[in-house]
Amino acid sequence: LKAEFSLIRRDTGFVTGLVCVLTDVTEQEKTEQERRDFVSNVSHELRTPLTSIKSYSEALSDGAWEDPDIAPQFIDVIQSETNRMIRMIGNLLDLSKLDGGQIKPEMELLDYKRVMTHILDRFEFMLKSGKSTKGFVIKREFTTSDIYIEMDQDRMTQVIDNIINNAIKYSPDGGEIFVSIQESHDKVTTIVRDQGLGIPQKDLPHLFERFYRVDKARSRDQGGTGLGLAISKEVIELHGGKIWAESRENSGSSFIFELPYENFEIIDEGWDD
Ligand code: ADP
Repeated sequence: LKAEFSLIRRDTGFVTGLVCVLTDVTEQEKTEQERRDFVSNVSHELRTPLTSIKSYSEALSDGAWEDPDIAPQFIDVIQSETNRMIRMIGNLLDLSKLDGGQIKPEMELLDYKRVMTHILDRFEFMLKSGKSTKGFVIKREFTTSDIYIEMDQDRMTQVIDNIINNAIKYSPDGGEIFVSIQESHDKVTTIVRDQGLGIPQKDLPHLFERFYRVDKARSRDQGGTGLGLAISKEVIELHGGKIWAESRENSGSSFIFELPYENFEIIDEGWDD
């Protein structure tokens, strides 16, 4: 709280009163502090890949380019760090549009199970044809009902892609990725559960903050930007839903999101009565 005092004086000079104005500045200062932290995080996060691009390209120009064993590795690092920066800038632009309310979701009534099947098939194909030697199995457990939801397909695909990519990235030994879709009378709940590293309890509430990572080095090695879950949260909230994570360390993590849903079947039954 900020307090401002002023004295009330008569013409004679006598003080006859005191006015105190209290202003709540905590919220204002918090936002300001968050903004400062964000700018400093962005600068730091962009400097890290730039520093490695700089040192690897210097090493190449200092002669490493002549070494047929080393040169391709260095070029690989430069390329992957450049791609990470491009992804990060893309993510930052997305977030700034989401913040500014510039993104109007393109809502369509879609068959949610179909959208999910499409995404999971793509991942399965990628896992089978990719270089990964880790065995991943994607297991699906979908409600038997037809689920039609109003959603922005591209944005929701971005969210699901991110959660499944994380399940893969943070499961060094592979394992089962379990995806379930269940509905109640007013919402559809999606659960993505992996058998990976798990997340310590203390980190769970912060996962959806910008640039928050449990293990910075691991995230970076995996090409992470630390922004995926922050974007996912914004998108889910844009759809009127909510998202959270649950985990027991060493026994995997679950990412759960709920989307609002009108269950017409239940409504129809109501009309029949
Ligand atoms: P990143 O680009 O670092 O993956 P995200 O915003 O997608 O950024 O995730 C933030 C952090 O949450 C990750 O760095 C990781 O520490 C943690 N995390 C996300 N998904 C999982 C998961 N399935 N298992 C374990 N940790 C996870």
